[in-house]
Amino acid sequence: MTNRELDRREFLNWMIPAGFGLCACGGCRTTPITQRRQLLLIPESQEVQMGVAAYDEVKTKNKISTNAKYNEVVTRVGQRLADAAKQQNLGTNFDWEFTVIADQTQNAFCLPGGKVAFYEGILPVCQNEAGVAVVMSHEISHALARHGGERMTQQMGVDGTGKILQAVVKKKAADKEQAFMAVYNTGTKYGFVLPYSRAHESEADEMGIHIMSQAGYDPNEAPKFWERFGAAKSGDAPPEFSSTHPSDASRAAALRALLPQAVEEYQAAPTKHGVGVPLA
Ligand SMILES: [Zn+2]
Repeated sequence: MTNRELDRREFLNWMIPAGFGLCACGGCRTTPITQRRQLLLIPESQEVQMGVAAYDEVKTKNKISTNAKYNEVVTRVGQRLADAAKQQNLGTNFDWEFTVIADQTQNAFCLPGGKVAFYEGILPVCQNEAGVAVVMSHEISHALARHGGERMTQQMGVDGTGKILQAVVKKKAADKEQAFMAVYNTGTKYGFVLPYSRAHESEADEMGIHIMSQAGYDPNEAPKFWERFGAAKSGDAPPEFSSTHPSDASRAAALRALLPQAVEEYQAAPTKHGVGVPLA
């Protein structure tokens, strides 16, 4: 077998498990709901594998919350949103898990594979179950849209030209792991937080408001949450919730523009939960 054949074989091993078709650029995919073309050169199975390992570390290194109400609400909301996503054929390969961390940081994240962490500090700002659904739907949307994989692709130094195939084939497991660690900021005091781009944030907001509505949570709570959050934010907010992009006021305005369609989806949801139980 020639080197060329070997390269081709390795390339197909990469692409086929990730569900990539043989489109012009090799690793193109369309994001769910927002239908944006994106470039992904790491198979989802590998992203998930690294996400699971990272999540185990999060659970080992942090104190898990013993607050029964927080645990109950976060798990219930998470499960309902995961079910709504599944109805749309999203995240069907995820093994969803929801953990509340006993830490007053105002943070939450979802690692590849549906591994969600909520910090106790964000829950009083959520105020009620629908507020939890706002944050949760936003976070799981980052994972469903594979924003981490997109960042990893960029991190691995591929540039969207003909050099891509060669670059992917030659990357070793260690390089991929390094890309994951760099992208997810492992080892920082916030655990695993992607400094997402403004475009990724807006996309997660848009996907999130549809998913929460389809799960039966009142989408009117989405802009209200971001306004509350803007007022309650602590001085050293982690990157995921920092003020740099987009501003809380502008994301609230963008979410209000999406309300008419979201409210329709909410009205059509088989079961409505409204704002659910209060948390504060
Ligand atoms: Zn985000």
